[in-house]
Amino acid sequence: MTTSVVGLSLDESDDGGLAAYDPSMPDGRPAIPRDLQRRVLIEAGHRCAIPTCQATPIQIAHITDWSIVKEHKFENLIALCPTCHAL
Ligand SMILES: [Zn+2]
Repeated sequence: MTTSVVGLSLDESDDGGLAAYDPSMPDGRPAIPRDLQRRVLIEAGHRCAIPTCQATPIQIAHITDWSIVKEHKFENLIALCPTCHAL
C-alpha cells in the first residue's frame, strides 16, 4: 500500500472515517490550482459567464456543487460575478 505523493488523495472506500485533513480551505476542500483558475477565466473572457450579465469582478464557481463532485475539473468550473454566483 503506497501513499499518494499529491497529498489530497481521498480513498472512497474509507469515507466516514477521519475528516478531511487538508487545512487550505475552511470546509476542507483543496484550493483550485492556479493554472485551472486561469483557464476558466480566459474561457470566460474575464467576465461573468452569464451572457446577459458579463459583469466583473468574477469568482470561480462549481457547476455541479463541490459537495457532490469533490474535485476541480475544468468542465465543471465557471466564472461568475458575485451576484450570479449567489443565485
Ligand atoms: Zn453575473
